[in-house]
Amino acid sequence: MAIIRFKALEQVFDRKPNHVSPPSDKTSDYFGINVFDKVKMQKYLSKDAFNHVMDAIEKGTPIDRRKADAVATGMKAWATERGTTHYTHWFQPLTGGTAEKHDAFIQLNQYGGVVEAFAGSALAQQEPDASSFPSGGIRNTFEARGYTAWDPSSPAFIIDNTLSIPTIFISYTGEALDHKAPLLKALNVIDKAATETCQLFDKNVTKVHANLGWEQEYFLIDEALYYARPDLALTGRTLMGHASAKDQQLDDHYFGSIPERVTAFMHDLESESYKLGIPVITRHNEVAPNQYELAPVFEECNLAVDHNVLLMDLMKKVSRHHGFRVLFHEKPFRGINGTGKHNNWSLATDTGVILHKPGKNPKSNMQFLAYVVNTIKAVYDHQDLLRASIASASNAHRLGANEAPPAILSCFLGTEVSAMLDQLEEQVTNKKMTPDEKTALKLDIGKIPEILLDNTDRNRTSPFAFTGNRFEFRAVGGSCNPATPMTVLNAAVAAQLIEFNGEVEKLVDNGVKKDEAIFQVLRKYIIASKAIRFEGDNYSDDWVKEAEKRGLTNVTDVPEALSAYLSDKSRKLFFDLGIFTESELEGRVEVMFEQYTLKIQIEARVLGDLAINHIVPTAVKYQNRLMENVLGLKEIYGEEYKDLAGNRIELIKEISDHVTAIKNGVNDMVDARKVANKMDDEKEKAKVYSKKIAPFLDKIRYHIDKLELIVDDEIWPLPKYRELLFLS
Ligand code: ADP
Ligand code: MG
Repeated sequence: MAIIRFKALEQVFDRKPNHVSPPSDKTSDYFGINVFDKVKMQKYLSKDAFNHVMDAIEKGTPIDRRKADAVATGMKAWATERGTTHYTHWFQPLTGGTAEKHDAFIQLNQYGGVVEAFAGSALAQQEPDASSFPSGGIRNTFEARGYTAWDPSSPAFIIDNTLSIPTIFISYTGEALDHKAPLLKALNVIDKAATETCQLFDKNVTKVHANLGWEQEYFLIDEALYYARPDLALTGRTLMGHASAKDQQLDDHYFGSIPERVTAFMHDLESESYKLGIPVITRHNEVAPNQYELAPVFEECNLAVDHNVLLMDLMKKVSRHHGFRVLFHEKPFRGINGTGKHNNWSLATDTGVILHKPGKNPKSNMQFLAYVVNTIKAVYDHQDLLRASIASASNAHRLGANEAPPAILSCFLGTEVSAMLDQLEEQVTNKKMTPDEKTALKLDIGKIPEILLDNTDRNRTSPFAFTGNRFEFRAVGGSCNPATPMTVLNAAVAAQLIEFNGEVEKLVDNGVKKDEAIFQVLRKYIIASKAIRFEGDNYSDDWVKEAEKRGLTNVTDVPEALSAYLSDKSRKLFFDLGIFTESELEGRVEVMFEQYTLKIQIEARVLGDLAINHIVPTAVKYQNRLMENVLGLKEIYGEEYKDLAGNRIELIKEISDHVTAIKNGVNDMVDARKVANKMDDEKEKAKVYSKKIAPFLDKIRYHIDKLELIVDDEIWPLPKYRELLFLS
């Protein structure tokens, strides 16, 4: 057994950096080479087909069947020139990750030969036999068909020899079975609502889009060590392992110099990303050992989401070429920092204005304040739903822990914006303002500097922080598809803007001047959502008490957090905006409960197996050696042996106690699972898994980690934290 660990270590010591040259030294020479972007569309499509796709992208108009043929022909011409032989509809099922089913570009001809073919119908729609994807009971097995339908707003791309076409995935009866379809709906509603809001300030705006800039954290672990840790390989995290004597106490990894093998991986990954048009720009070491981060330049939200899930796939592939495995799990190692995916989000207009960025004059700053205030109000109103959008079995290890704890939602604004909101609250009244008062207020608003200096020194503990020209949703977990939190955030803000537009309009209809109406409504929202604003340390115990006093919710239990999807408030939000139908929402949430249960179930099984097959036999083996030693001493020294072997006798007992506790723990855990597995209701089952089964994972681990400290290192079967985290 132990041999695996040492063999793995030997392999690590033998590794060399694998330097791969990019196609060209100049990134601009090959950026997007594998993407069927607008430039290539213009080249390969007729003018008519090109304009048709542009309309579909910009205005969301449906693609006409005949035009689809023309687009498919152009796309195929480009793709085959680049050596592709297959195509696939690429989609994001509720399992997480991405899915694809490849078809060759061939069609039999009448002479028994084949010709390359790709019809518009194959581009526009496919029917993968996708009956194994979860749907939460939306599809009965007898009606297992699901369709994928082309999303022209995200360009097709080539991976290996396959043309990949981004698609949504829906059931036969039209219900969304993926992450992209609801996101597109949310982006559409926020466009409409925010454009209307913009009209209050600037009549030239005709479209608003959401931006997303994600920051992807990850760990790199040597592949040989990864294979020697079945828990990592099967669950994405270590279910056991004593803390390394040194880990991140010295903060010496953060922004430190990047090891050569890792640099080689990053270079390779970057050039692969550039080929796919993913504009990755920053890379650095993170706080924990072997932890890194990369971030692209922000993009339109739908494209950014596609790029994130595509990049995660790419990272898995490229890491293996360098003898690494990449981990996205939110907490692969206990006791050190976990893995987040900050979602930097803002709204922007087709006139090039970032609406969450202060402007140059009072009017644009008033618009800026309107967007900030409405965002905060949306976060306040839908705090439970936002928490649900990031809740998962793996993110639970960050939820409520000391990392941008998402269990209590709060917004950080920074002193300048905070002060501005306080001022609005004070100066505005519901009475008619005098011209002098108005001028004074506008002058003050005009003073918000374009660059908010104090936000560079921002509050890193806040789960939802304003950072100068955007909000940063930090509670999002490293492994999750950002489509989910982005759907919820955009929907919540859209609903809020609709309310704002309506209230302002009503006041104006009643004779209140437009700017005064805006001030009055904003003031109302500032007061109503005040409780969510928090500038202090979100990690402190005082905040937990303070938040409770303010009536903010604090939910660390995942099934309970997920239940917020089904509250009356959330239902109303989703149904009013047309993001989900009743059956879509219920089906989706059922899948979430089921996924939660399955994740904990797998962890419980893996831990049970490892405990009984790896740990207990190793401990007993060492215990036998101790007993041999004690008996030997007895043979030589007679009764005097007790003095000589005192601490070994204690150790023998200690090992017995831990082994007994492990065995009992595993037995009890199995019994608890048997009870839970009989339950039919997914929500109730998830609750039992959370309350009754998950706690065993910690209980059993405690004894295993104690044994790791006692048992001879030579026979310990699993790579230890100090090896997993410091060798690369
Ligand atoms: P930090 O680690 O300091 O939070 P990074 O530079 O790693 O910042 O990442 C910030 C991310 O935010 C990048 O993806 C960046 O492009 C993105 N970003 C910057 N401005 C905006 C904006 N207005 N809207 C959305 N994303 C933005
Ligand atoms: Mg950040």
